[in-house]
Amino acid sequence: MISTCKEWLKRYLQLGIVESKDHRINQQIFVSNLFSLIGYTITFVMAVSATVRENYILAFCLYTASILFFTAHQIHRFGNLHNSHKISSKIVLISLLILMVYLIYTGGHNNTGPLWIYIVPPVAFFFGGMRKGLANIGLFVIITSIMLFYPGDILLGTSYEFSFKSRLLYSFSTVTLLFGFYEYSRQKSIQNIQNLSDKFEQQAMYDMMTGLPNRRAMREYLQYEYDRSQRSKKNMSVLLCDIDHFKKVNDQHGHDGGDVVLQELANLFTNSLRKQDKTARWGGEEFLFLLPETNAFEAHILAEKIRKKVANTEFHYNKHLVNITVSIGIKEVEKNISVDKAITLADEFLYQAKESGRNTSMPKFDAVDDE
Ligand code: GH3
Ligand code: MG
Ligand code: MG
Repeated sequence: MISTCKEWLKRYLQLGIVESKDHRINQQIFVSNLFSLIGYTITFVMAVSATVRENYILAFCLYTASILFFTAHQIHRFGNLHNSHKISSKIVLISLLILMVYLIYTGGHNNTGPLWIYIVPPVAFFFGGMRKGLANIGLFVIITSIMLFYPGDILLGTSYEFSFKSRLLYSFSTVTLLFGFYEYSRQKSIQNIQNLSDKFEQQAMYDMMTGLPNRRAMREYLQYEYDRSQRSKKNMSVLLCDIDHFKKVNDQHGHDGGDVVLQELANLFTNSLRKQDKTARWGGEEFLFLLPETNAFEAHILAEKIRKKVANTEFHYNKHLVNITVSIGIKEVEKNISVDKAITLADEFLYQAKESGRNTSMPKFDAVDDE
């Protein structure tokens, strides 16, 4: 019995939550479901009690509020409804505000109705955030103040002591301020956590020195493009590019000089690529290029373009001129081979390029080499 109730409650609170959605939206859906459950249960009980007391207008309003709270939950059943979480939280908030105004107007049971208004600040801040929350609460305070203090109580269906009305508003303002401060700190903390998480993600996916994606990020791009190329008719290609005699650069200009050359080379690569292409720092002075929808012949044209650009570029370190060249291995990722296999074959072509004297790309294509 208890486990059935637990299961029902879990399903009720999680209606509308989808893992692929932003976790903040899911959290909002969860809290909106919780409010709808509490809201419609309490208003329903109060409505029945008002019916028993033969206060039919109050009962009608409470039943209506109860139905609205229930609707806010049921909206998530329409899976195709865009932004259902926003609609649902708006229904919860608006029905709550109207109910509160009504309770102040009538006084509810023995004039205790206004005691419920303290629910407004947390709900308004949670669903609307800092600015919208304050705007909604402000509007609520203006409306209720006019109702409470309008001369002759003509905007009220009951009457309250002046001291009760003024203290009700003072204490409500204090609670609003406290919740506002709490909401502000909560948002700041969320923002800080988000910034930290973005920073860690950046560090995990990018090479700090060159700013290029690292091996790990490239593996994800490769997998994504490989899956895409398997579905489409067009193959992708990979280029493995290695700086020639880089040890000599380090020997002549020191490790810092080598680092600067690596950074400048990374910029050159980024500026030479087509929009759809990606390059990553694959190892120390080795770079992997991913060329989607590119066959071996087209890849060779691009490889030669990059190779020539590097050879014709003057790199600088401490006013010293540094000339470098690169060797490139090319492999089209055909349907029957894996990405890893293609990279291994590109590495073999890179080895051949080194063996044949460096500053070249392999394999050769006559049409390009004749240029
Ligand atoms: P080859 O033409 O055969 O590729 O010769 P190479 O000297 O480039 O090749 P080798 O693999 O023997 O040496 C690579 C050098 O790259 C050695 C290593 O110190 C240097 N290197 C690797 N990563 C970095 C780095 O982040 N910064 C600097 N400055 N040097 C690096
Ligand atoms: Mg090298
Ligand atoms: Mg190397």
